[in-house]
Amino acid sequence: MSFKSVQESLTNISRSNTFKGIFQSVHDPNDEEVVQLIRNQLISEGRLPEKYDDYHTLLRFLRMRAFNVPKAKEMFLNMVKWREDFGVDAIVKDFKFEELEAVKRCYPQGFHGVDRYGRPLYIERIGLVDLNSLLQATSIDRYIKYHIMEQEKTLNVRYPACSLAAKKHIASTTTVLDVKGVGLSNFSKPARELFIEIQKIDSNYYPETLNQLFIINAGSGFRALWRVLKAFLEARTLSKIQVLGTNYHTALFEAIDPRNIPEFLGGTCTCSANEGCLMQDKGPWTNPEINQLLEEVFHKGKKFMEERISEETNDPSGRHFNGARTLKMTAEEYEANGTGISLKINEIEAWLKDTNEILQKLLLKQEEMSTFVEDLKKLASEAM
Ligand SMILES: [Zn+2]
Repeated sequence: MSFKSVQESLTNISRSNTFKGIFQSVHDPNDEEVVQLIRNQLISEGRLPEKYDDYHTLLRFLRMRAFNVPKAKEMFLNMVKWREDFGVDAIVKDFKFEELEAVKRCYPQGFHGVDRYGRPLYIERIGLVDLNSLLQATSIDRYIKYHIMEQEKTLNVRYPACSLAAKKHIASTTTVLDVKGVGLSNFSKPARELFIEIQKIDSNYYPETLNQLFIINAGSGFRALWRVLKAFLEARTLSKIQVLGTNYHTALFEAIDPRNIPEFLGGTCTCSANEGCLMQDKGPWTNPEINQLLEEVFHKGKKFMEERISEETNDPSGRHFNGARTLKMTAEEYEANGTGISLKINEIEAWLKDTNEILQKLLLKQEEMSTFVEDLKKLASEAM
């Protein structure tokens, strides 16, 4: 199952009350109005490919442009064009980064658990980068493809898995950048080029996915460099960055449980025995139960919904948009359907009880089930 299809499956079943809060969050009516505005404009101009027609994607671009619709639209269209030109979908599907371990050894980085809110935690020890070895292990072009592949995995797998684990909508990352030893002297031309290229990709095409960035172990060398680097960063991004010296622990522990912080950053994580914490890619997205739930159950849920959902006729695009769908099935048909979602959920419920403590939070209580069925009945009656 591809990253994208996991995301689509989640969107499709997110209309259930219980899952809506997890995968779609509660939509702010003001946001919703602007999203609908930009969406209608793009559709009427024939410039919104169906695969990019997603509420939260549009909202991220609007936020990045302070809700200026023409500017957000331009940025969004640049992203669509870049994805086509660069072949992002093909990278996700076909690109193999065999040199990953070798790269991580000379450029220590990786996802490592979650912050206190449940967002993925990403750690990079840029001060330990051995650029010569890096450029022997890989090329800048291949490294950028790898970076894009990771960004796609974060959007389409890590966030949904974290949302499931935390039982709330997660759509941003907390990052720790350890800059110990970084200064102007070791920031050579290839390193600068790589940094600028990655910054450009992240801020232009993956906006608003950074929750908070802790730059730690900043010495005088880094602070000199920082005055230069700041020029390449958007004001909104800058507002999420804290530059800290060696006394970073209090700030870090406030946002992240020390159990999720590797020992080399003062935490107590013990997963480092095998090749080190940053080799692990540990997090809810590698939890087999969560993956199985994402892969199997949501996939079945999607098929189930697809058979029974038809497009709403007053949709200007003539196609669905998140919750704007109509169930044609009656409540009786729904109840009578032996492979129905309610039965499926009961099955999951029984299964989850035995397997995973985190997932137990997901269990649908009896009253939630009746709300869900009531919701379906209401939708069904509206459709008749
Ligand atoms: Zn660890």
